[in-house]
Amino acid sequence: MAGSGWGPPRLDGFILTERLGSGTYATVYKAYAKKDTREVVAIKCVAKKSLNKASVENLLTEIEILKGIRHPHIVQLKDFQWDSDNIYLIMEFCAGGDLSRFIHTRRILPEKVARVFMQQLASALQFLHERNISHLDLKPQNILLSSLEKPHLKLADFGFAQHMSPRDEKHVLRGSPLYMAPEMVCQRQYDARVDLWSVGVILYGVGQAQLDPIPSQPALCLPSTEALFGQPPFASRSFSELEEKIRSNRVIELPLRPQLSQDCRDLLQRLLERDPSRRISFQDFFAHPWVDLEHMPSGESLARAVSSQWRRTALVVQAVKKDQEGDTPAALSLYCKALDYFVPALHYEVDAQRKKAIKAKVIRVP
Ligand code: ADP
Ligand code: MG
Repeated sequence: MAGSGWGPPRLDGFILTERLGSGTYATVYKAYAKKDTREVVAIKCVAKKSLNKASVENLLTEIEILKGIRHPHIVQLKDFQWDSDNIYLIMEFCAGGDLSRFIHTRRILPEKVARVFMQQLASALQFLHERNISHLDLKPQNILLSSLEKPHLKLADFGFAQHMSPRDEKHVLRGSPLYMAPEMVCQRQYDARVDLWSVGVILYGVGQAQLDPIPSQPALCLPSTEALFGQPPFASRSFSELEEKIRSNRVIELPLRPQLSQDCRDLLQRLLERDPSRRISFQDFFAHPWVDLEHMPSGESLARAVSSQWRRTALVVQAVKKDQEGDTPAALSLYCKALDYFVPALHYEVDAQRKKAIKAKVIRVP
């Protein structure tokens, strides 16, 4: 980095060590706080001399957005600093690396795992959507994993993110060609819905990973890691081929294999709709049966199912009533709904004692 020749730059209060990755503007290093806590962090270093007016604005927006938000599936910005050479974003360290590397090493990502990741990404996007923030550079390299043992997904790199209210339209090309929505490229006029297209491309690549681990030839427009596993829908060997595919009117066809659930296929098809007015809406995406944020295994569903038992209790009470009235189908449906709140909680809970307690409650539901 600037000022230090080879190796990581120096920053007061931290020891910068290995390089974790780099992207459009930045190099990210693992670092330790010199304070007694020895906290491990990731420091995103941006060389001032590499910045032009637009990228300064992007960096300021990234800092402004990240410092104002806190979400379990969005990387946390802890602090930022600068010196004569660099600007430093001090962030929560994600030991699992990024999703593109995760797919690369796993080779196969079963639908079940893809679904959990998609739910976590959707919950981050829901949080941003409620605040009128669009990410605009959604791709596996910008999605990090908290650890490899028990990976939790963390959305990162808000370098292109923008405040965009529902009717806001933008015209500037942002993001990475493979993940860019057709309306951004073709009309140069787009809104928040471009993020939904990118989610579709990410999911398509993940689904494809099971089908075709090694393509016959590396493609020019593919980052090498993904080229090995799955191909985004517009995988191309040249930019002109890519442009042709983006501009075409052809419906995106999903390969017949691997065997994915009908819900998963339906979601993919609705995300990868070229016309944004026919693309799935944000609300329908969050509620889609394959995403189903309402029943997502998370601290929230735990809270819903265990701490605030009102929902389950209400459902069970209604079920018992229907049962007594002899309306067995209605009773069964209510019992099943109550269970929907327990099963994800069970999946998420790691503490053995608490797991047992939830299990006992589930068993008690007749
Ligand atoms: P750029 O804006 O230059 O694309 P990113 O924020 O995307 O920079 O970071 C580049 C790469 O560095 C990521 O793709 C990821 O591999 C790695 N990285 C970024 N932030 C972290 C972090 N907090 N923990 C671990 N690795 C990270
Ligand atoms: Mg990036």
